[in-house]
Amino acid sequence: QARRTVGVDKNVWVEFTQLAADYKAVNLGQGFPDFSPPKFVQEAFCKAVSGGPSMHQYTRGFGHPRLVKGLAKFFSGIVGHEIDPFEDILVTVGAYQALFCAFQALIDKGDEVIIVEPFFDCYQPMVLMAGGTAVYVPLRPKEGSTVLSSGDWVLSAEELASKITPNTKAIVFNTPNNPLGKVFKMEELQMIADLCIKHDLLCFCDEVYEWLTYDGAKHVKIASLPGMWERTITVGSGGKTFSATGWKVGWAMGSGSLIKHMKIIHQNSVYHCATAAQEAVAQGFEREHELFGTPESYFQQLPAMLQNKRLKLASCLQSVGLQPIMPEGGYFMIADISSVKVDLSDESTKNESYDFRFVKWLIKEKGLATIPVSAFFSAEHSKDFDKYIRFCFVKEDSTLDAAEDILRKWS
Ligand code: PMP
Ligand code: GLN
Repeated sequence: QARRTVGVDKNVWVEFTQLAADYKAVNLGQGFPDFSPPKFVQEAFCKAVSGGPSMHQYTRGFGHPRLVKGLAKFFSGIVGHEIDPFEDILVTVGAYQALFCAFQALIDKGDEVIIVEPFFDCYQPMVLMAGGTAVYVPLRPKEGSTVLSSGDWVLSAEELASKITPNTKAIVFNTPNNPLGKVFKMEELQMIADLCIKHDLLCFCDEVYEWLTYDGAKHVKIASLPGMWERTITVGSGGKTFSATGWKVGWAMGSGSLIKHMKIIHQNSVYHCATAAQEAVAQGFEREHELFGTPESYFQQLPAMLQNKRLKLASCLQSVGLQPIMPEGGYFMIADISSVKVDLSDESTKNESYDFRFVKWLIKEKGLATIPVSAFFSAEHSKDFDKYIRFCFVKEDSTLDAAEDILRKWS
């Protein structure tokens, strides 16, 4: 066993996705839509696989030309920088591989990487496997006020600055955030950007939920702030963008001088991503480019549809006494379980944290799958955040109704 695999063996998705399946639970756990992607990308995919032979063969290794051109055209205006499709973009097997390539290519042994918590769990093993050291800074609920929204969780500029050392190489964060739903505000992004520029740090920004914001919250790309394009790797996901998580098309976008190192990892590992899926995502972006800002745009329709589901889940949770933190963006809502009295006497889980035990109980005894939120925190902070569980609301109304039935019966 190689040393880099030691201590990173536990994985919350492996564990809880299996448990949800074993107990045939109503699944608000793993984050994926249980409804179909929009017709236009499904049709593009079908047309691609039923067309000529080229869609069944390799395409350009660093990204199908039609996709990188489509992404460059779409995002140049948003980032405020003329993106070179062939230099500044790397297409990857989902956002996961974009993150993996970023850590492998840009983090060295001895480098410190600051991770803003709660964080998508794979950042930690990816830093460790690259030989780096992860340093954590949590978002914390604002003191003294009733915390109702993900916007009430804030990052302390002093705390973040205090973690920077001469070995710090990068700051990693995710907006809209999984699991909290926080959409970082302009001032917060500017604070992170100022520190990155002052200390000459890289910034890895995971923006897979970029189109999903609610109640007027606005997603801003940190790469669009002055001085940030050349030091930011922005990670995106076709799966999250077009509700097709199984296609596993993702990308990293940034200055060619950084992306070129990530290409080395890519060319010597995966080399290439599925052609037809890239073609379909490319056509999806071409359509969205034409319709951008109009009501027909999927980037407007999807959040509008999810807005109702979000409200439906929130009112259900409230009515059974599980106080939700209203997310400003993303797929998920977390809820406070500290006031719920349940009998967690299952001996087999007695050494686990409270939220892990609670979620296991909920799956096994009530048939409802969710995800424990302490999985998104480092060991040093997880005890402070083990009274929340995460619900995914990107589900058919019938799935949400089934979850509601379970919650109402039990409470
Ligand atoms: N980052 C975040 C914050 C996620 O929630 C996910 C899960 N979709 C990923 C990255 C990985 O995305 P993909 O499925 O495109 O690999
Ligand atoms: N991003 C999704 C989630 O947070 C799925 C992650 C996974 O299956 N590895 O639930």
